[in-house]
Amino acid sequence: MSKFLTPRLASLAPYVPGEQPKERKYVKLNTNESPFPPSPLAVKMAAEEGEKLMLYSDPDVKDLTAALAARYGVKPENVVVTNGSDEALNFAFMAFCGEDMPALFPDITYGFYKVFAQINGVPYEEIPLKEDFTIDLAEYHKRQGVVFIANPNAPTGIFLPLAEIEALVRQNPSRIVVVDEAYIDFGGESALSLIKKYDNLLVTQTFSKSRSMAGARLGFAVGSSELIADLHRVRYSTNPYNVNRMTAAAGVGAIKDEAYFQANCQKIVQTRAWAAKELSALGFTMTHSAANFLFVKHEAIAGKKLYEELKKRGVLVRHFDKPRIAGYNRITVGSEEEMQTLLAQIKTILEIEYENGSN
Ligand code: PMP
Repeated sequence: MSKFLTPRLASLAPYVPGEQPKERKYVKLNTNESPFPPSPLAVKMAAEEGEKLMLYSDPDVKDLTAALAARYGVKPENVVVTNGSDEALNFAFMAFCGEDMPALFPDITYGFYKVFAQINGVPYEEIPLKEDFTIDLAEYHKRQGVVFIANPNAPTGIFLPLAEIEALVRQNPSRIVVVDEAYIDFGGESALSLIKKYDNLLVTQTFSKSRSMAGARLGFAVGSSELIADLHRVRYSTNPYNVNRMTAAAGVGAIKDEAYFQANCQKIVQTRAWAAKELSALGFTMTHSAANFLFVKHEAIAGKKLYEELKKRGVLVRHFDKPRIAGYNRITVGSEEEMQTLLAQIKTILEIEYENGSN
């Protein structure tokens, strides 16, 4: 840190992304990426667009915005396209939170919300999830502030039924509820259907998970045309060319290739069910996940130790050093083959653990 850094940033704890190691080849089950390549149509359209890179991208990202609007049954003025959904979330913090409008989110959720609050100088409150990691709606009812809810939540994978999201939105029409649906395509029910009914609801989604495009950095937010105009205002005040040409073209290809998207989501859902069964048979307990990851723990081994032992054996999962969830690991649902490797390594680790325990 230099002596020139402004004090406000000096005290900020930046978001820590999951490891992306280069030193050896891991079975990578730590950052909820897709095990499948992007749609061939997305790749083709990105490559063709590459020839036009000497020109700035379209600041309104018209083609992709129109494709998204058509896909999700809204108008283009209800959609803003962003550089990953992280950017949409950051824009929402910038646009709607302030000194007298705090951000409210669960104590166990996507770690970036806290960082967005801090970097934007926004007060925030972390509202504890209930003992079973579900959201306590009554606690939000008591407070004023912009609500950020990941649904399904991360890292628990727990899905809050749409009726409860609607109750939260309806509770207090004078505040905004932002529903972060990064993992919605793996079995949850989207709140996009409520956009026309409520002007205080903003939904964000991403191409990073279900559309296998984490490296392209593409996300979007959907809401009333007024909310979206506010986000455009922030976008035009930070980076009007926030989505590059190749990414925008890839996005159009991915949306056109609906069959590929559906097939991959289905594969993940199937592999999740099978892996959950196998892990339960090995003695793991887990939350009920509607996402492309499992959140698991085992009585015989500490969360951190399992993470470390797996890493030694070439399998990366995500462990969070947070007291309430320190016993757990979040395991991305990869391909069937990757999950076979994970299960085989876990079996070995547990055998050693049991042997040591009985000595
Ligand atoms: N929300 C949640 C809950 C996430 O886990 C992630 C991925 N790290 C994001 C948003 C942001 O994803 P991206 O910026 O790749 O769209």
